[in-house]
Amino acid sequence: TQNIHLHSRPEGLPSAENFKLVEVTLPELKEGEVLVENLWMSVDPYMRGRMIDRKSYIAPFQIGDVLEGGAIGKVIESKNDNLAVGTLVTHMMGWRKHFVSSAEPLTALPQTPYDPSYFLGVMGMPGMTAWTGLNRIANLKAGETLFVSAASGAVGSVACQLGKLMGAKVVGSVGSDEKADALRALGVDEVINYKTTDDLNAALAQAAPEGIDVYFENVGGEHLEAALNNMKDYGRIAVCGMIAQYNDTKPTPGPANLAQIIIKKLNIEGFIVFDHWEHYGEFTQQMGQWLAEGKIKVEQTVFEGLENAPDAFIGLFEGKNKGKMLVKL
Ligand code: NDP
Repeated sequence: TQNIHLHSRPEGLPSAENFKLVEVTLPELKEGEVLVENLWMSVDPYMRGRMIDRKSYIAPFQIGDVLEGGAIGKVIESKNDNLAVGTLVTHMMGWRKHFVSSAEPLTALPQTPYDPSYFLGVMGMPGMTAWTGLNRIANLKAGETLFVSAASGAVGSVACQLGKLMGAKVVGSVGSDEKADALRALGVDEVINYKTTDDLNAALAQAAPEGIDVYFENVGGEHLEAALNNMKDYGRIAVCGMIAQYNDTKPTPGPANLAQIIIKKLNIEGFIVFDHWEHYGEFTQQMGQWLAEGKIKVEQTVFEGLENAPDAFIGLFEGKNKGKMLVKL
């Protein structure tokens, strides 16, 4: 079978040379173990951070080791009574076609009418991140103005739609006109294409003349600076990600207007979704309902084949995805 290993640590934007497709032989199944064939794997921006050798909230990848990440697979051989052949499982052993595992790192997927890939996106970690940021970090309320950056991505597209369901006015920023049109079709009130706008600050002021109550931060840099300038007094910022900085080779200077935090008495809170996982059941129940009612629409961008997983991953930093970026194996 095949795995993808980290071949070298990226400097700046990752490239194909940082990855290596490797042929591997699987061990025989022992009692209690299963053989899993992966069907879908996720590529996520946070994986870029794990390619750097540093201490963080999650351990770095090691050169020469198989990469890891969220994936959905099917049990195709079993020596475990609780995991019959045919069971669909979610786990962190992405970036490989097959693997042998004990039951412990595998979670059987619940019976659902949705495609299993939804559990890597809208019903999985990214959807849960959007829900957590708005409900548990920023406490968005009806009638407020929400600004979402990277608004058409996996997290952003759910954050925008949840914002509308929660009764907010939603402003999104994206990197193409096509993405902007797609967001407007989802009901987002105002969309900014940050690549064709020469003054993000002014564009935001125009889109939200009343000011921003909640900023769902996915990007950092200029987006954070523009948001700070346009926040209302006592506004809240849920700091989810800063993708504009993940490939930086030198530390980027912070926004020059951080004093806005004081002047506007802002509440800025970072979060990692896994710290909130005890609420995952509540989230999936609500999300399942919204999907069934057609209140949340799902967009995915799919690359085919394990060999194309590095391109899918690199594509995240080039804006190649609408909705969740996935690899179908
Ligand atoms: P996305 O699906 O949003 O994919 C990344 C998108 O970011 C791209 O499509 C691109 O869209 C945009 N982007 C890339 N580079 C830049 C840039 N330099 N400036 C502005 N936009 C850029 O990824 P996710 O939804 O998975 O993740 C979104 C954010 O949430 C990331 O920052 C990620 O790290 C964070 N995250 C945090 C979690 C947590 O627990 N805190 C959990 C999950 C994700 P465009 O064409 O619009 O530029």
